[in-house]
Amino acid sequence: MLSQRARNINPSPTLTVDAKAKAMKAEGHDVVNFGVGEPDFDTPENIKEAGIRAIREGYTKYTPAGGILPLKQAVVDKFKGDNGLEYSTNEIVISCGAKHTLYGLAEALFDPGDEVIIPAPYWVSYPEQVRLTGATPVILETSEDSGFVLDPEALKAVVTSKTKALILNSPSNPTGGVYDRAALERIAEIAVANNIVVISDEVYETLIYDGMKHVSIASLGAEIKALTVVVNAVSKSYAMTGWRIGYAGGPVDVIKAVTNIQGQSTSNPCSIAQHAAIEALTGPQDMIATMLVEFDKRRKRLVEGLNAIEGISCQMPRGAFYAFPNVKALYRGEIKGSEDLSMFLLEEAKVALVHGAAFGSDDHVRVSYATSMEDIEKALARIAEAVGKL
Ligand SMILES: *Cc1c(COP(=O)(O)O)cnc(C)c1O
Repeated sequence: MLSQRARNINPSPTLTVDAKAKAMKAEGHDVVNFGVGEPDFDTPENIKEAGIRAIREGYTKYTPAGGILPLKQAVVDKFKGDNGLEYSTNEIVISCGAKHTLYGLAEALFDPGDEVIIPAPYWVSYPEQVRLTGATPVILETSEDSGFVLDPEALKAVVTSKTKALILNSPSNPTGGVYDRAALERIAEIAVANNIVVISDEVYETLIYDGMKHVSIASLGAEIKALTVVVNAVSKSYAMTGWRIGYAGGPVDVIKAVTNIQGQSTSNPCSIAQHAAIEALTGPQDMIATMLVEFDKRRKRLVEGLNAIEGISCQMPRGAFYAFPNVKALYRGEIKGSEDLSMFLLEEAKVALVHGAAFGSDDHVRVSYATSMEDIEKALARIAEAVGKL
């Protein structure tokens, strides 16, 4: 009965792990959930109030498919202020979360036969979304030594006449890798020379450590800007994952196509959440710094703790809220790869994390530190004990 497309799609492994951890918790197990892909902070009060106000003021009806004008204007101002990017409101689309923006972009841009370059380790949805359109994901490995940043020479080597797009994600989920300006300049050069569309997923832009600064590849010149769609969301920056508001800035024709696709599929992002997102983007921004300070403390403790465990080696992530330790040295006996190890740690240590194979690297696991310091300490002790039994 099912379409070929539906038969080929995999369930989201990150959502599956999260669901399993929550189910075990509900059964009374003391599970530490390192699988989470969302901040553990609550949505700030002023943003919640804006949502409540929107309901009271009657913003409870359909909106334009691509989002309401005041939110588009807030996004225009955000791109200008934070990223040095000049867009007008007709170059902006609002969607039901960045995942949905990315899906709309895949539908709007890719034809069967197109090749889409995805650096690995990658966010789980990129290859699946590309495959759903009939296009071909071209997975390009990055090395741990480079901080999981794409090597421009390797990029050049996989470009063919069929290459349509490159999906960039900085800071990266799952690796925490961050591209600096120099790296982005070299990638932009290659994209421009080969007329490659760049989809730049910047949802973790506010979560960068050690004084590094986020650079949007679209800000590196008019030519690369004309080829780039910048994707962002309020989800991670403002602890608003459940509100489902993502957005993109890009060429008018692409934005129009995404808007039309939304008009025929979801109609519009939630009216109430759009009003809350205006408050997020235009209201006080202090919670961003507060979250960053806390995540930074956890990051350092987690990485230090992981490196203290025999058989685990972990680079210091430079952004987002994930560590991506190499656990290959633990593969022995029954434990043949990252999925076996994750299952073992869930059962033996009651620690949920996501196997690296889901992100295109079986040597690693993804550990989220969007959990309390107390949980981090508890989980580190339990992992050390469990690993000692291997
Ligand atoms: C969480 C996440 C998204 C999706 O964000 P939503 O706005 O919740 O849909 C997109 N890209 C990456 C890399 C993410 O980690």
